[in-house]
Order: sequence, then C-alpha cells, then structure tokens
Amino acid sequence: MDRRTFVGLTLALAGGMPALAGGMPAAREARPRPGRTRLILLGTAGGPRPRKTRAASSQVVIVDDTAYVVDCGDGVARQLVLAEVPLATIRHIFLTHHHSDHNADYGNLLLLAWTAGLREPVRTWGPPPLQGMTRHFLELNAFDIETRTAGAGLVPLARLIQAHELTEGGVVMEDERVKVTAALVPHLAVAPSFAYRFDTPDRSIVISGDTTRSDSLIRLARGADILVHEALFPEGMDRLVAGAKNAANLKRSILALHTTVEDAGRVAQAAGVKTLVLSHLVPAEDPAITDRMWTDAASRHFRGRVVMGRDLLEI
Ligand SMILES: [Zn+2]
Repeated sequence: MDRRTFVGLTLALAGGMPALAGGMPAAREARPRPGRTRLILLGTAGGPRPRKTRAASSQVVIVDDTAYVVDCGDGVARQLVLAEVPLATIRHIFLTHHHSDHNADYGNLLLLAWTAGLREPVRTWGPPPLQGMTRHFLELNAFDIETRTAGAGLVPLARLIQAHELTEGGVVMEDERVKVTAALVPHLAVAPSFAYRFDTPDRSIVISGDTTRSDSLIRLARGADILVHEALFPEGMDRLVAGAKNAANLKRSILALHTTVEDAGRVAQAAGVKTLVLSHLVPAEDPAITDRMWTDAASRHFRGRVVMGRDLLEI
C-alpha cells in the first residue's frame, strides 16, 4: 500500500465546543441491531442526472452512532434524514472523486448539518481540490452563514470543518471506532480517485467509488465482509445513450470509466469478500433490467452473497 500523502490544511480548528446534544438515532426497523457497525446505502444511481427512483451516490457507515459519510451525491442530507441518521452525528466525510454525482452536495451536507445541530468538528477527506472547494463553498454561502451565526449564536461553520486532501492510498484516519484505508482506483482522467475500506470492531466494509476493474481494489477489499461495488449493465447502454447527439462516443466513454456487473463479481471473488453489494448502477433506471438480472450477472463469477442495492437499504 502506498503511503498516504497528507496535505492537511486545516481551514479552521474548533476549540472548546460544547458536547453534542444529539441523542440516539431512531430505530429504522423493529429489529435488533446486529452489531456496533451499520451500513446504509443512501443513493445508488450512477450519473448526475436526478432520477425518480434512485438518488446519486452516497452511503453512510455508522459505528456506535457516529456517522462516516462516503460521497455526497445530490440530496445526501435528505437521504440521511430519511434513513433517520441525525446530521449532527456526522464526524467524517470521504469523497471518492470529483464527479458531480459523488460531490454535488458535499458543501450542502456540511451547511445543512450545521443548521440541524452539528456542533462538533467534521473532518473531510478526498482528492484535490477539496480544500479550495470547501473554501469557495463557504464564500458562496457567506451571507446565510453569517446571518445564522449572528442570529442564533451558532459557532461559525468554518471553524467546524477541517478539509484534508489525499493524493495517495494508505491509512487515511483512525479513531477508537474505525480505521479507514484508501486505495487509488482507475477512473480514466479523474485522478486521483479512491476506494475506501472501513475496519471496525465488528465489520469490514469497502466502498469501490468509481473504477474500472481494479487490482488495487481487490487488494484493498481482501477478505472484507462487504464490498459495495459500482456496476454497469452493458446490455442497457444503447437504451441509455439513445437520442444523445454523440451516442456512440458517449457509450464508449461510459464503458471505459466503469466496471461491468460481471466484472464486479470477478473482483468480489478475487478479493474473497463475503457479500457483494451492487450500487452506482448504470443504467440507474431501466425497467428492462430486473434486479434478478443484475444479481444473476454478478453471481456468474462470484460464489458469495450478492445484494442488489437500493436507496435506504441497510446491510
Ligand atoms: Zn465518476
């Protein structure tokens, strides 16, 4: 594993913050929690165009009621609310790469969490220019932030955010609940792009981000309990690009950026994971491709359990 390069511009350090008064999240289902670690898929669509049945890419790992968000597609704050995850419990945000279906609501999540009771520092992690994006977002929303800070006596939002840029794989952060490790994954010109692995006291969870079939992802995911892998269904590509001006080029570029669902199964098998979760689905909405078709394709080369991703699914 490559050593992580830490470019840790601290936008602002929080000091002497009062303890969080968030309380426990409400139970989503009337069943006991199996362990300390929960994984909830917040958005499972691939691509930035808003859709009716799936939100853009995002997921949350919750350990002992502390939330670690991976990617911030459109509507991530709303999806967290629907999943009954208090926004004030977010402590870390990880971006896999800077495509808008993964980062469009990065700043909005921070801003909206702050209005919803966030009072403790949040550390954010991702490729450059994460620090510049964070700074510009705060400038863009300076009027609202200043108004609320003065009116409600809130801690200025900038003091709560520490943005860290990652340029190499390796251990990203570690606390008493989780160790997070990143690996560089290939996503054409969108470099660096990362996959993240969460090792907690009771589970290991890997999020692929966007990638073509990747050996570094296989190494990162070795022996994990869960691999959430992006997936593309090749037979749906012609319908997806139909009507586009440059349909053939568009199809070629989508295929070159992503992993087919069969290859996601091959990656899961090579890594020896227990469960493969299909997410970041391309096409995201195609009634001609049933859930069964997705899972059958993934199972062609994977002997473990395959889960078809859907928004708000807890695994
Ligand atoms: Zn992407």
